[in-house]
Amino acid sequence: MEPQKTVLIVGSGLGGLVCGAILSMEGYRVTVLERNKQHGGNLQSFARDKHLFDSGVHYIGGLEPGQNMYRIFQYLGIMNRLKLEKLDEAAFDKIVLANDPRTFRYAQGYEKFIDGLVADFPAERPAIEAYCAEIQRICSEFPLYNLNEQAQGPPTETESLSRDTQQFIASLTDNVTLQNVLGGNNPLYAGIKNKTPLYVHALVLNSYIQSAYRIVDGGGQIAKYLASIIRRHGGQLHNRVEVRRIVAEGKQAQYVETADGTQYAADVFISNVHPAQTYDMLETDLVRPAFRRRVEALENSLSAFVINITLKPEAFAYERSNYYCYLNDDVWTSMDYTDATWPLSYSVFFSGTSRTKGYAEGISILAYMKYEDVEPWKDSFNTAKEPTGRGGSYEEFKRRKAETLLEKVYLRFPQLKDAIKSYYTATPLTFRDYMGTADGSIYGIAKDYTDPLRTFISHRTKLSNLLLTGQNVNMHGVLGVSISALVTCSELVGLPYLLKKIDDAQTA
Ligand SMILES: Cc1cc2nc3c(=O)[nH]c(=O)nc-3n(C[C@H](O)[C@H](O)[C@H](O)COP(=O)(O)OP(=O)(O)OC[C@H]3O[C@@H](n4cnc5c(N)ncnc54)[C@H](O)[C@@H]3O)c2cc1C
Repeated sequence: MEPQKTVLIVGSGLGGLVCGAILSMEGYRVTVLERNKQHGGNLQSFARDKHLFDSGVHYIGGLEPGQNMYRIFQYLGIMNRLKLEKLDEAAFDKIVLANDPRTFRYAQGYEKFIDGLVADFPAERPAIEAYCAEIQRICSEFPLYNLNEQAQGPPTETESLSRDTQQFIASLTDNVTLQNVLGGNNPLYAGIKNKTPLYVHALVLNSYIQSAYRIVDGGGQIAKYLASIIRRHGGQLHNRVEVRRIVAEGKQAQYVETADGTQYAADVFISNVHPAQTYDMLETDLVRPAFRRRVEALENSLSAFVINITLKPEAFAYERSNYYCYLNDDVWTSMDYTDATWPLSYSVFFSGTSRTKGYAEGISILAYMKYEDVEPWKDSFNTAKEPTGRGGSYEEFKRRKAETLLEKVYLRFPQLKDAIKSYYTATPLTFRDYMGTADGSIYGIAKDYTDPLRTFISHRTKLSNLLLTGQNVNMHGVLGVSISALVTCSELVGLPYLLKKIDDAQTA
């Protein structure tokens, strides 16, 4: 019998865990090293006032039988274990524009999606139908997204990589309100005018229009189930272990070294950490300084300020919808705020619990925030593992921002004012310290339609046994990262083989 090959995975975000689960099931002996106290990266859930909040997964698309996310979770054997709640079929997302009393609704299923918007824009049926047809056509150009057995890997030459989302939407109609509505949930991918490629918009939107689900009782359960697959197959996960060096000899990585000097050798290494940090840790002459500089210079998507609110009993109605609310006229410019105009938009996510009946127990409100806003405290580090605090001025900053944001939210949701029991805030520094990104970016490297290949990061490196995975390879989001893990693992087990396994698992 051949000895089991060993795989060392740095980081236990969704990407690291899906790779770990797949490779464990394929007979590899997997070890995962995670710097944090909890596994999961952005999947982590945390409790405040006995209420569970999600740090980075509010809803997931493509979870109906036969759809892409369902098929991946089914193959991993976790689909039926997840506690899910289908979002409102008539309105999974609600878009609220500045100076417009209406609430616009995104319905699930293309027909209902079209009919829902046509009800608000009766003269615009052709534009709305053309929008949907093009979104679906673009998605069909991505065989891997469709888990099609003929898929070769991520496409690099498709025309939609080089098209701007906002320009595409504006080309369909002169109705500016409809343009804003069609771009209205762009915080899902940190969309920027004249930058975000159309394929990013299409792949994200299509997955939610197909079906949209909320995880009940915390997205952390995804991490828990994936970790248990790794353990069941003899693998190990170590938390509170920070990797500092990836050491190579010739064309092969030899070992990683952790903060306490422990060395872990393996046959194969997978980094789930941001590529800039991975290359920073990687000691080899094979990666040229110009390439390292290029990766380091890639711009990340923005970060966020989040208020996690626990609510008084029976004080605020529970909704199976998410809200995207705008305070300026253009949904693509919310990032262009000043201290005086912040925030220009915010999103509201309800957290679902198995106890929830009619009234919400907790909500999270998210607004964009730039890392530079918290730079005065950038030298502080604060997590549950190493609680150090950042000082009174930081607490005052958070309080001021929370009050500013809440005042804007009350204008649209006046009943919230008396419903709040307590609230807790997170800033770009919180995301930085808990997720391990340099600037707290929520979705990693920002894609750019003007130069799509520059923002494309390969899962391969110059070292034959060091692979990358996670939201910076392929796409962000639960779906994007899961597909990125398939790409990474395909290097070891083959893509056709993996896709056949996924197919076989649907009928098993
Ligand atoms: C506020 C927010 C809301 C979101 N909402 C949604 C949503 O509703 N739906 C959706 O699909 N997606 C959503 N996302 C995106 C999604 O959560 C992420 O794209 C995805 O979870 C990223 O997974 P990942 O594997 O790339 O990496 P990460 O989750 O970033 O994990 C990387 C891991 O590596 C660890 N690490 C870093 N450095 C080291 C080191 N040196 N040594 C050891 N470990 C290390 C980190 O601690 C972390 O655990 C949201 C994200 C955010 C932030």
